[in-house]
Amino acid sequence: AKETGKNNCQLFTLAMNERAQQRLVLEKDLRKAIEGRHFEVWYQPKVHLPTGGIIGMEALVRWRREDGSLTPPLEFIPVAEETGMIVPIGEQVLEAACRQAKTWHDSGYGHLALAVNLSVRQLAHKGLIDFIERLLRRTDIDPSLLEFEITETAIMSRVEQAVAVLEEIRRLGAHITVDDFGTGYSSLYYLKRFPIRGLKVDRSFVSNLPSDADDLAIVRTVVSMARGLGLHVTAEGVENVAQMETLRSLDCDFGQGYLYSPPLAAGDFERLLETSGGI
Ligand code: C2E
Ligand code: CA
Ligand code: CA
Ligand code: CA
Repeated sequence: AKETGKNNCQLFTLAMNERAQQRLVLEKDLRKAIEGRHFEVWYQPKVHLPTGGIIGMEALVRWRREDGSLTPPLEFIPVAEETGMIVPIGEQVLEAACRQAKTWHDSGYGHLALAVNLSVRQLAHKGLIDFIERLLRRTDIDPSLLEFEITETAIMSRVEQAVAVLEEIRRLGAHITVDDFGTGYSSLYYLKRFPIRGLKVDRSFVSNLPSDADDLAIVRTVVSMARGLGLHVTAEGVENVAQMETLRSLDCDFGQGYLYSPPLAAGDFERLLETSGGI
């Protein structure tokens, strides 16, 4: 029994080492990717539910590896967040996305709103506002077409600091949307107090529409509350026509999801704009 215990212990140590090893490799590769600017920004259309027109896009980061493969955000954002590497990555994403949006604005799609995700760590970073301010000047993008998606968890994790940053963002003329609404420490208080423009209803409330009566009630309530507060509502994860029709009947403003399009590389997004006639 003593031997088995020892063997188990060795196996456990080996497994630990392997995980620690993988983590170190990931961190090292991420550092190289930041230096080499190996991140791509993909775009998923946001659609005006009543008309089906594309009103904007969400920028979503992808990591292009040396072998050509793409690593999705969920495989590196958490580590980037823990190590602080999300700050330079986020800056590269924001810069690339603003430049791209400006190109589209100048080529006949002047109405497209660009949404970019901001994480807790980015929100806490002292240089954020300066970076955005300089970027707006450098790219000459219309700030009212720039929107930041921030989760309620990120906002609530340091309320006082978050309010100040959100107010600065508003001062620059850009907008703020609450991402994954309904999944975090929701507080109705911040909806009133914070300078936000809209709510993004989390996919988990959308996926079982219209059959799940609870989700139906939740989405209906969120939309009616948003109406009362003068906020827009976007539903994420719209995958089928039944969900879309339900969201329309609930008077939800915007939708995003595989039904319309998955996130696309810039060139493919541009072709989508052309074929859908822009609006
Ligand atoms: P999110 O902000 O909630 O983004 C929506 C995610 O849902 C995206 O995953 C998108 O591809 C996926 N999605 C879109 N439509 C559908 C659908 O109809 N069905 C399903 N099942 N999924 C759909 P993605 O691109 O893998 O991004 C995952 C998360 O990584 C994002 O969640 C966001 O939290 C984070 N992220 C992505 N890009 C960035 C970035 O540039 N900066 C920061 N800070 N976080 C990012
Ligand atoms: Ca988002
Ligand atoms: Ca979301
Ligand atoms: Ca979500």
